[in-house]
Amino acid sequence: MSPKKNESKSEAREMLTDIYGENVFSLKVMRDYLSDAAFKSLSGTIRSGATIDPRIADEVADAMKIWALERGATHYTHWFQPLTGTTAEKHDSFIVPDGEGGAIAKFSGEELIQGEPDASSFPSGGLRATFEARGYTAWDPTSPAFIKEDGQSRTLCIPTVFCGYHGEALDKKTPLLRSMKALNTQICRLAKLFGVKSDGCRVITTLGSEQEYFLIDKELHEARLDLLQCGRTLFGRSPAKHQQLEDHYFGAIKSRVVAFMTDLDRELWRLGVPARTRHNEVCPGQFEIAPMFEELNLAVDHNMLTMEIIRRVAEEHGFACLLHEKPFAGVNGSGKHNNWSICGPDGKNWLSPGDDPHENAKFLTVICALIKAVDTHADLLRAAVASPGNDHRLGANEAPPAIISIFLGEQLTDIIDQIEKGGANRSHKGGMIELGVDSIPPLPRGNTDRNRTSPFAFTGNKFEFRAVGSEQNPSAANVVLNTIMAEALDEICTKLEKAGAEEFNAALQSILSDIIRKHKRVLFNGDGYTDEWVAEAERRGLPNLKKTPEALASYRTEKAKALFSKYRVLSERELASRYEVYIEAYHRVVKIEARCAVTMARTMIAPAAIRAQTELAGNIKSVKEAGGSAAGAQSLLEEICRHTEMMLSAIKSLESRIAEDDVSGMISATLALREPVDELEGLLPDDAWPLPSYAEMLFMM
Ligand code: ADP
Ligand code: MG
Repeated sequence: MSPKKNESKSEAREMLTDIYGENVFSLKVMRDYLSDAAFKSLSGTIRSGATIDPRIADEVADAMKIWALERGATHYTHWFQPLTGTTAEKHDSFIVPDGEGGAIAKFSGEELIQGEPDASSFPSGGLRATFEARGYTAWDPTSPAFIKEDGQSRTLCIPTVFCGYHGEALDKKTPLLRSMKALNTQICRLAKLFGVKSDGCRVITTLGSEQEYFLIDKELHEARLDLLQCGRTLFGRSPAKHQQLEDHYFGAIKSRVVAFMTDLDRELWRLGVPARTRHNEVCPGQFEIAPMFEELNLAVDHNMLTMEIIRRVAEEHGFACLLHEKPFAGVNGSGKHNNWSICGPDGKNWLSPGDDPHENAKFLTVICALIKAVDTHADLLRAAVASPGNDHRLGANEAPPAIISIFLGEQLTDIIDQIEKGGANRSHKGGMIELGVDSIPPLPRGNTDRNRTSPFAFTGNKFEFRAVGSEQNPSAANVVLNTIMAEALDEICTKLEKAGAEEFNAALQSILSDIIRKHKRVLFNGDGYTDEWVAEAERRGLPNLKKTPEALASYRTEKAKALFSKYRVLSERELASRYEVYIEAYHRVVKIEARCAVTMARTMIAPAAIRAQTELAGNIKSVKEAGGSAAGAQSLLEEICRHTEMMLSAIKSLESRIAEDDVSGMISATLALREPVDELEGLLPDDAWPLPSYAEMLFMM
């Protein structure tokens, strides 16, 4: 190999890996910027998830400031996730006047650890009485600080929790951290029962969230009031060709899109987001980005950051990114596949079948705990993904229905069946745990064995919860998953601890077969998209909570209150506040969409239809006067008039629903208005239609 060749090779390597984490105050950076003592203390804090030692706070803050200033940052912000569904930031500059006409850059330990942004306009669902209305942010050292760049601006972002004066969680990160702790405790108990060595017992919940999105041309986006205001199209006639030929999925990526994706990946890598996969999705104009999985809390922060960066980079490339769950009717919507797993204190994936009967017994215990958890709290999993956008997606084109069921695949189902039949008194050979099976054959992974129609699928070494909406903060789904899993494991561990070491195997066999008998109704390997499944699920007594209000009601049951308080994830008051905030947000979205539909129909579509009528009527008149035949034109005119009249009356009834503040009435009246509008789109001259069409939006890029 010539030296020249070698050189270019290492250059290429640097280009790719050197930018990774460039904008992150990572452990690697800390080591260079902190004293040995402070580094040791802080890295210990990060590993254990404890609170930072106040004695090193000033040093850490100073190091962070120097690092940030070197990278051109002028401001810092506590970056948090209020109940709105987006992230929040309020910037403060490092500048402090020195009293002599100059200035110094200041950032103290106190400013790093706690902020008081007030931020009283965020929804709190009654958690913030006015006399104690201040909101506080507190640094979460388990998610590293980073610098966000946008044009000329550079801001040091410090991931924080956001809470009220008495520690009430006003955000989405606090319950997530609490739920991780609850799960940690129970996994450690199980580890002890299975004799797993655990040094300090650190459990890592992992998440890889595949993110789907649409891109459309920015100019077309600007010409659609519904997209600008609601994030989805309220009208739009289905084009002749959309996704029927499935020629977009995994197809060659268009140059303009790949240029965008390349910039996106680079920006994400610089922020330490491990973006791995990019591809075309099923619908034209639809794409996916998937990261390598990470520790849950960090993965959620990274997903929130990813959504923000996708939008910005898209704009820079002349696109608008649509993260809405259902921007276009009649074609696929976008989800966020939530790949969730548990890495135990032994550093192994506990959702991966092991090599020996002992490991497999542990694996099957975790699987059975999950079966119990998901069946007992299917309603809460549904509530966690409830949003107006997701209502349009769940149960529609190629999206899981609102019924929560588990797909285990043929082989694992077979094993589960055997355990069920095994009964309590099954013998165990040579002291080995048998559980009806000596070993588990390697379970297939990958797309081939996938049941893409299941909302909750076992995919070889993790569970994939597919009902999460593309625009949602994934934390709610994971809060529920962690907490229901903690409860199921708690019950299992309590029984096993009572049984003692002597009776361990028999007790485990009996516990697992009991669970399977009681909860197997939630297992379903068939096609989740069919009507037969809907009927079958009803026979099995599985909830089918189709719309957000019914789904959110699950947060108000005694079962939910008991669960979340017992594991200290959400107090009754905090849980109630979530219900209040989300139902209110739902009502607001419905009203915005209804009013936007009225505006568009009245001020854009009706005038176009009326102009077309006049033109056509004039034409018919002149043709007739000239002795021509106008029968076809006459019937076209009649059709346009009929649909225009229907539209005008649909506008009136939608307006009445708005005036009455009738939310479910608004939903059906908005849909009813869509019918004549979409008909008119097929009747009016193309150049008279005031909105970009579906074909233009999905194919012109
Ligand atoms: P696909 O679902 O497209 O077949 P993969 O199974 O490779 O692709 O991964 C999908 C997502 O699941 C990726 O984000 C990946 O990092 C994540 N993933 C893989 N293993 C785990 C795990 N143990 N825990 C959480 N997520 C995981
Ligand atoms: Mg997947």
